[in-house]
Amino acid sequence: MGKPSILLVHTGGTLGMTPQGSPAGLAPGPFLEGLLERVPELRDLADFDLEVPYNQDSATAEPADILELARLVRQRSAGCEGVVIVHGTDTLAFTASVLGFLLADLGKPVVLTGSQRPLAFVRSDARGNLVNAVDLATRGVAEVGICFGTVWLRGVASEKLSVHQYQAFDSPNLAPLAEIGADIELHPEAGRFARQVPPGLGAALELDIHVVTPHPGMAWRPAPEGVKAVLIHAYGAGNLPMERPDLRAFLADAATRALPVVITTQCREGRVDLAAYELGRQLEGFGAISAGLHTRWAVLAKLGLLLGAGKGTTEVRAAFGTAWAGEPTPAGIWPHS
Ligand code: ASP
Repeated sequence: MGKPSILLVHTGGTLGMTPQGSPAGLAPGPFLEGLLERVPELRDLADFDLEVPYNQDSATAEPADILELARLVRQRSAGCEGVVIVHGTDTLAFTASVLGFLLADLGKPVVLTGSQRPLAFVRSDARGNLVNAVDLATRGVAEVGICFGTVWLRGVASEKLSVHQYQAFDSPNLAPLAEIGADIELHPEAGRFARQVPPGLGAALELDIHVVTPHPGMAWRPAPEGVKAVLIHAYGAGNLPMERPDLRAFLADAATRALPVVITTQCREGRVDLAAYELGRQLEGFGAISAGLHTRWAVLAKLGLLLGAGKGTTEVRAAFGTAWAGEPTPAGIWPHS
């Protein structure tokens, strides 16, 4: 039997960087030349088709880049068993969230990876991450996920946790799709989720969203003109200082302008529950929408796709009550062991 064929897409990030400039900082370098020479064991696992749609620090990613990546994977993966995407870690969780929605129906693994230290450096985590990502991509599990350190995580549930640790990502409200040790242990539910992404999304990603991270004493000023939605990273279960007149004016203004207002939490783990506290109930009274267990990146991805398709508050409200592509919901949470 022949080896599986994998589409390997390089988009940039530390994994392929080299020191550049003076004083030298890491910047994208010529990556693909030599990759298979540097990590020859990849050839034991698969045959590769290579694509480089762009080669950048992921902090510079724009919505058009992510949509281009989604289109490329859909077009070029037809003859492949799986896809591996090398990506910078900074915005990896966001890209993985958008792709998790747009490629939910692809029917094959899409494994995103990167590294904290360039492949060309000694003691790099790049080699292990790449090999694990390719291995996962050959296993036929139809998930879009981030392979990093010792875990494979569902993309729409993932977050970057550390600037420097090799265990840099987690999915705080969902157990990993796979634990990677001497063996790769796949979660029994990996690949099994309802695909419920509404049709007609993906032509545009509208991210002109007013994001607010409140702190005690903060002044609330109306959302800037032109924004299409408001995202508030509230305290705890979704609380805000509702006695403040400027906050009430902020929320009333957003309601008058028919801006969807979505509430996430500043906490790393757990769900927004606007019914839990009196303050949350008041917030709900202004029409605010709970993001439940969605990560901030999954929220931005859903909002961006809906707003990009010209949808408004009704569709946004429905979106946060539904798992489009396996994002955790209170009913469908897999606890960490
Ligand atoms: N700034 C880099 C990037 O996101 C960080 C990394 O890849 O780890 O492209």
